[in-house]
Amino acid sequence: MTKKQRALEVIKRLKSEYPEVKCALTYEKPHELLIAVRLSAQCTDKRVNLVTPALFERFPSIEAFAEAEISEVEEYIKSCGLFHTKAKDIVEMCRMLRDIYGGKVPETIEELVKLPGVGRKTANLIAGDLYGKPAMVCDTHVIRLTNRLGLSEGKDAVQVEKQLRSVVPPDEGLMMCHRLVWHGRGVCTARSPKCGECVLKGVCREYDKKK
Ligand code: SF4
Repeated sequence: MTKKQRALEVIKRLKSEYPEVKCALTYEKPHELLIAVRLSAQCTDKRVNLVTPALFERFPSIEAFAEAEISEVEEYIKSCGLFHTKAKDIVEMCRMLRDIYGGKVPETIEELVKLPGVGRKTANLIAGDLYGKPAMVCDTHVIRLTNRLGLSEGKDAVQVEKQLRSVVPPDEGLMMCHRLVWHGRGVCTARSPKCGECVLKGVCREYDKKK
């Protein structure tokens, strides 16, 4: 089986296992997703979803965030960890959105990564989820699972993104990544993957090695 064939089979099985998946972060406006993703670094989506309702009520627009005192934003996001850096990034990001991008979240990965605190993972998620662009969101789950499946090698997110883009059809990447995250949380966990109950075991290189 070639890597492309393996990727297509993985996509097929994941679709059947997780027909309905979407980003676990709650948001209503485009910039709110950007902020929620920034808050989710080294924090759970659940925690972020607890914090953002009050934050977005206090600062209801890009302009409001751009004019905010960083110290006040910090108060709202303390429980998400790394709050000094995250608050600074959020305010500076919104100043850039207001001053350079006309109050709109940019659509391309190349523009998105120019924003403070936005790396390729976030940029891919925003471009894919908000604008329907081909995207490959390489977070820790996607890297671990695609390594195990034999679709990628190494832990470097940029390299893994490149490798996956070469074997996954462009319009399948985003949803494959969302589904891999669900699978990584519930079945193929970091410490004890439940291979016996995994729908991917017939196409998994790690499983073949164990056999
Ligand atoms: S067979 Fe095991 S290692 Fe492979 S994807 Fe499934 S849970 Fe992970």
